[in-house]
Amino acid sequence: MRAPLGLYTHPDCLLHDAGPGNPERPERLRALTAHLERTGIWQDLQILKAQPASAADLERVHTREYLDRVESQFAAGEDFVDSADANGNRETFAATRLASGAALDAAEQILAGTLQRAFVMLRPPGHHAEVDRAMGFCFSNHVALAARSAIQQHGLERVAIVDFDVHHGNGTQHIFERDPSVFYASLHQSPHYPGTGAKEERGLGDGEGTTLNCPMPAGSGDGAWQAALEETVLPALDGFEPQLLLISAGFDAHQRDPLSETLLTSEAFGRMTRSLLDLAKQHAKGRVISILEGGYDLEGLSEGVAAHLGELTA
Ligand SMILES: [Zn+2]
Repeated sequence: MRAPLGLYTHPDCLLHDAGPGNPERPERLRALTAHLERTGIWQDLQILKAQPASAADLERVHTREYLDRVESQFAAGEDFVDSADANGNRETFAATRLASGAALDAAEQILAGTLQRAFVMLRPPGHHAEVDRAMGFCFSNHVALAARSAIQQHGLERVAIVDFDVHHGNGTQHIFERDPSVFYASLHQSPHYPGTGAKEERGLGDGEGTTLNCPMPAGSGDGAWQAALEETVLPALDGFEPQLLLISAGFDAHQRDPLSETLLTSEAFGRMTRSLLDLAKQHAKGRVISILEGGYDLEGLSEGVAAHLGELTA
């Protein structure tokens, strides 16, 4: 009996267009869906249609002034907001609301016990989005919204976020760096975009000790990443005892990815996921919400996600 996994998606996420040549493109989701259908994984999933997050939902993390700016600038036909790597079109705000809404619904369903695990397969991604600033293809921070909702609306005391996207999740770290109820752990290539995520960044004030960064050199590969996860991240999370595990699942550390030099194989994503699922089973009743972040080579993304979902449904 395979564990039921809810996969959130919505066709309108294909309408968000970051412009010609941008690697964060609709084809990512098209190729991924086709691969999951072809390999038979799709049939094992409970496919769920995302609903958009409301303004009040988004304001649990972002400022109203910032959200208004994203909405109005794209509605006016601008092609980026805040920084030249946060491109979009008239459909971008609706797409990011859907991705955030899916993450929030996943938290609600899982904490109500109607779902055991979920994969949020929408775009744009979210982990670079700050409280009041778009950057790095991201506009609203889906994983941060799910974590905050789990604490504030559903009464959890400890939530962990593990981010294995090849880029450091600056937005997520900054949102929770003073919050001891959310443990943020990241493996990322360093030096690399966005430049944050040094080992010395361990949280601030009451949140000191609940931020953990594992900067990894270019070329580090499967063994070094799995070792960092097993020897540094998992022991820390074991001590934290999270009641829910969230994953910022980026697949841009793949050896085929054009935006990194980290060189992970597809199988590495399966191994990391298995270790994370063991942790969730031990402390969090097996409850996992994984949220798609980056991954820009269509084949690398498809194979990496297939390995990830293969473990999450095991
Ligand atoms: Zn990334």
